[in-house]
Amino acid sequence: MAEKSFKYVIVGGGVAAGYAAREFGKQGFNPGELAIISKEAVAPYERPALSKAYLFPEGTARLPGFHVCVGSGGERLAPEWYKEKGIELILGTEIVKADLAAKTLTSAAGEIFKYQILIIATGSTVIKLSDFGVQGADAKNIFYLREIDDADKLVEAIKAKKNGKAVVVGGGYIGLELSAALRINNIDVSMVYPEPWCMPRLFTADIAAFYEGYYAIKGINIIKGTVAVGFTADSNGEVKEVKLKDGRVLEADIVVVGVGGRPLTTLFKGQVAEEKGGIKTDTFFRTSVPDVYAIGDVATFPLKLYNEIRRVEHVDHARKSAEQAVQAIKSSEEGKTVEEYDYLPYFYSRAFDLSWQFYGDNVGDTVLFGDNDPKSPKPKFGSYWIKDRKVVGAFLEGGSPDENKAIAKVARVQPSIQNLDQLTKEGLSFAAKI
Ligand code: FAD
Repeated sequence: MAEKSFKYVIVGGGVAAGYAAREFGKQGFNPGELAIISKEAVAPYERPALSKAYLFPEGTARLPGFHVCVGSGGERLAPEWYKEKGIELILGTEIVKADLAAKTLTSAAGEIFKYQILIIATGSTVIKLSDFGVQGADAKNIFYLREIDDADKLVEAIKAKKNGKAVVVGGGYIGLELSAALRINNIDVSMVYPEPWCMPRLFTADIAAFYEGYYAIKGINIIKGTVAVGFTADSNGEVKEVKLKDGRVLEADIVVVGVGGRPLTTLFKGQVAEEKGGIKTDTFFRTSVPDVYAIGDVATFPLKLYNEIRRVEHVDHARKSAEQAVQAIKSSEEGKTVEEYDYLPYFYSRAFDLSWQFYGDNVGDTVLFGDNDPKSPKPKFGSYWIKDRKVVGAFLEGGSPDENKAIAKVARVQPSIQNLDQLTKEGLSFAAKI
């Protein structure tokens, strides 16, 4: 079988891989030195588009329109860019074995890739209901969304089941974004999740009440406090009904499941130190194995601001960790070093006409400010999180770019406050002063 050898290999061809390639381009390398090996058949793209404009009936996003690095306002890296730079894009190729001691990777087809430096950027995979043995979970038209192939299948189903019924299982950001996208496609949508409110890992009850109210106005039926325990299918094997734990049965032509992900670290199990479910790295994204780096969703890294190590499954960190790792690699080749990674957690989501951003840490007490009436023509509201009398986190729905910058600054600076009522009263103007 063919054997190929590269100075740098990135395994995984998602967001982090794409931004790493751009950084290699900035820092300089020789043609033929860098390869990206990806299971997906397409060059790296901005994954968040899959649950948003990719599914819209109008203004639809399609490749090559959203290849990296357009998501952060950069130049689009279409497949030709890699060719011009002499980067080998090895697509449609799944790595099934990694031998970090021998510095080799083996693909499903048996090809062998050798490297001097490896960057692990395998991202996450979805948790499936069949993993928990949910009855009937392998029926047709039950979808998950991680990769572009998944999105294409969902688009086909939306077309085939015009004006049909969908059940969205899960109340996280994937569930919320997909429910909106389905509704915009004129599908009748029910959302089901066990928690008392949506996005419970980030949203407070007050924040969630706004989104749940807004979704109800859009005609989405929200069913909380129960879970899907089984599915029935018709004679074609297509899903027909969703059975809930509380005994209710919902009709469904389409089911979309968004119940979380897990980092893809299996290839490296037992060969590299892990922590908090991910591959443990230092501030330069070096793993416990020399010449092996891990970036994006799979990395558990030191979050300097909070003096602890964490894994972050968001696109902004995928981009920035990639840049940091490549800068560290290139600097160390010159005997230099780069500054420590000093990440400020940043998450966002968009659905319907809504758009929120969150910066910092969601711990401690909270205050809510602004207009969070779902019936308002232009709702705009936010929350601060306060720990040890310092504002450590900030959330804003409907903010302008400047306002979003202001809340980011609050989360970074962590200003002290004396009085929660005063903070509530000041609301966004508190951020503007920082
Ligand atoms: P990925 O982008 O997932 O890339 C991993 C790549 O590795 C994939 O191409 C995969 O096929 C490949 N791979 C895995 N294993 C192998 C193997 N063995 N061999 C070869 N290739 C392999 N974050 C936000 O902050 N905001 C959002 O609005 C948002 N929306 C999202 C919407 C969706 C539908 C999804 C799925 C995620 C969203 N995210 C969002 C999260 C964000 O996309 C991820 O955090 C980000 O993509 C992580 O980048 P990554 O490079 O680590 O992994």
